[in-house]
Amino acid sequence: MKFCPKCGTRLELVHKKTEKSSKPMLVCPRCGYETEPGESYAIPLKKSIHKPQEKIAIISRREQELRTLPTIKIECPRCGNNLAYVWQVQTRSSDESSTQFFRCTKCGYTFREYG
Ligand SMILES: [Zn+2]
Ligand SMILES: [Zn+2]
Repeated sequence: MKFCPKCGTRLELVHKKTEKSSKPMLVCPRCGYETEPGESYAIPLKKSIHKPQEKIAIISRREQELRTLPTIKIECPRCGNNLAYVWQVQTRSSDESSTQFFRCTKCGYTFREYG
């Protein structure tokens, strides 16, 4: 696929009719720039098919995990926001209960359960 060197618009293949024959030309639909399709134009049809652009935002695994976390109304000690993600971490010793962690939805500050 070729692009216009002047304005960057994708060039279109047009068969220009001359007195003698029709000549394939690459024409910019925006500014009218014309160029002859060179050898580089001889691309197999399969390759010229436009791939759907992968514009899906890549979310980091950590962010994905956080998005699935439930939220709880608790005041952030840093910014005062009153909504935080909540999750539990099991401590190593089995006799201790799991510790709750919070992450402020606003500033991202992570803090532990009070007490
Ligand atoms: Zn152009
Ligand atoms: Zn905060």
